[in-house]
Amino acid sequence: MMKQEHKRTMGRLVNMHVERKKLYLSLLILTLSTFIGFLFFQLGFNDSNIIMLYLLAVFLIAIITANRIYSIIFSFISVLIFNYFFTFPLLSLSAYDSGYPMTFVIMFTVAFVTSTLAAKIQQNSHFSALIAQRTRILLETNQMLQKEITKEGIIQKGCEQLYKLLKRDIVFYPYSEHELQEVYVYPPQTSEHFKDVLSDEIHVARWVAKHNRHGGASTDYLPNSKYLYLAVRADHNVYGVLGIYLDKEQLDSYENDILLAILGEIAFALEIEHINDEKKQSELKAKNEQLRADLLRSISHDLRTPLTSISGNADMLVSKEQELAQKDRLQLYEDIYDDSLWLINLVENLLSITRMEEGAIRLKLEPQMIEDILYEALKHVSRKKKEHHLHVQIDDDLLMADMEAHLIIQVIINLVDNAIKYTPQGSNITLHAYQKEDMVTIEVYDDGAGIPDDKKEHIFDKFYRGNTKIVDSKRSLGLGLALCKSIVHSHGGEIHVMDRIPHGAMFYFTLPATKLKLEEHGEVS
Ligand code: ADP
Repeated sequence: MMKQEHKRTMGRLVNMHVERKKLYLSLLILTLSTFIGFLFFQLGFNDSNIIMLYLLAVFLIAIITANRIYSIIFSFISVLIFNYFFTFPLLSLSAYDSGYPMTFVIMFTVAFVTSTLAAKIQQNSHFSALIAQRTRILLETNQMLQKEITKEGIIQKGCEQLYKLLKRDIVFYPYSEHELQEVYVYPPQTSEHFKDVLSDEIHVARWVAKHNRHGGASTDYLPNSKYLYLAVRADHNVYGVLGIYLDKEQLDSYENDILLAILGEIAFALEIEHINDEKKQSELKAKNEQLRADLLRSISHDLRTPLTSISGNADMLVSKEQELAQKDRLQLYEDIYDDSLWLINLVENLLSITRMEEGAIRLKLEPQMIEDILYEALKHVSRKKKEHHLHVQIDDDLLMADMEAHLIIQVIINLVDNAIKYTPQGSNITLHAYQKEDMVTIEVYDDGAGIPDDKKEHIFDKFYRGNTKIVDSKRSLGLGLALCKSIVHSHGGEIHVMDRIPHGAMFYFTLPATKLKLEEHGEVS
């Protein structure tokens, strides 16, 4: 703040210096005119030439000073000098010729009128320069603020721009939920003294936000404050309170205009940001609600089919067990087992996907043998696997990757179950694992119908079911691959799908290979 005080004193000194320079220049012009007047006088030129000379001088002075007071004073002085030096009796303020007083009056009037006009023109051009500058600044601010998409960005740019223009410290309290939020100060390097002032005056800022009016320095409300506080508002919504360090000084009308215009720009930018934010929130809410509704609808529908079949089969077993042939009984038991396995996997998937999305899962990565993981997964895949030919190929028996085992097992179950579900009986399904650089790749591929290119980009989306004719039943939630993707990504791997030649789909995903710490085993190889 000391620095700011110093800057303002400097500003005043510069102004005084400029004014003094104008005065000296005006005196110089008048002196020069008098010299030239003498020359004209010596050469025997007519009085009117000398009068014209003085008119020219006063005109020039008016252009330089652009001030009416100077015009009056110098018009008057030029008449006096003309009278004193160039009318008889010389070197006296009286005049013999009876026509002279009239000459003086006309000379003064002409000098005064022309110089006033010149000063006015000068002032007008000064004003238009100011207006042009103001328009440029506002346009620049407007463009700057439009580029900012965050609230913080808008506030920072707005304060920066105001500081550049007014050369006064700026503070900004964002206002939301009927509270002033943490203050933003510009320039950021603040002194302790400055912070004390702010905490002393925070009630003024609160008052301004609450009453949506100006307060503090130079206003009716607590004028002794160091800062002038203004509400940043648009359409009766207050988005913040802006403070300008005035400390007893006043803003001139130009500064005031600029301030109000920029304040309007900031408020407008904040309002747009606010509207966009609300729109985003409601879109998100609507999307979440839609997702929830979809999920509920799918689940209730999908749960009903296997549950009805379980209860129907169980009912049959309870009521007609004796009458049923051994073969049919076994079929019913198998169907119940199948349906419950499917239900367990569905619930597992649902639980994992919600936990993944809430970020509740903290992975505990541990080195695992790929072989163990593949065979463990195959134990849980659909019983229909018997109707397909399953092959497992592991390039290195000791292949290991870092993973949370039950999640990766779930990925493999989903991929193999899909391959069983979406290929005809007797199809081949292969699991192939190998290491490339520091990643392990696991492929699950089949020789079924494959997946058309336009579907490939959606199959990892939640609730996407690609209308494939499901061979064994209608059970499809469109969640399996979405979950696989979340799990693999959370492990730092990638998952993709591609075609098999001549037909079929190949899903493959990567996991970080376990780095064997040889030194721990004391081996060097
Ligand atoms: P769901 O199987 O419950 O429909 P998924 O997310 O597991 O959901 O699969 C999404 C879609 O991808 C499936 O509906 C199916 O159209 C397609 N798909 C997945 N795996 C295969 C496959 N091996 N062969 C053909 N289509 C498949």
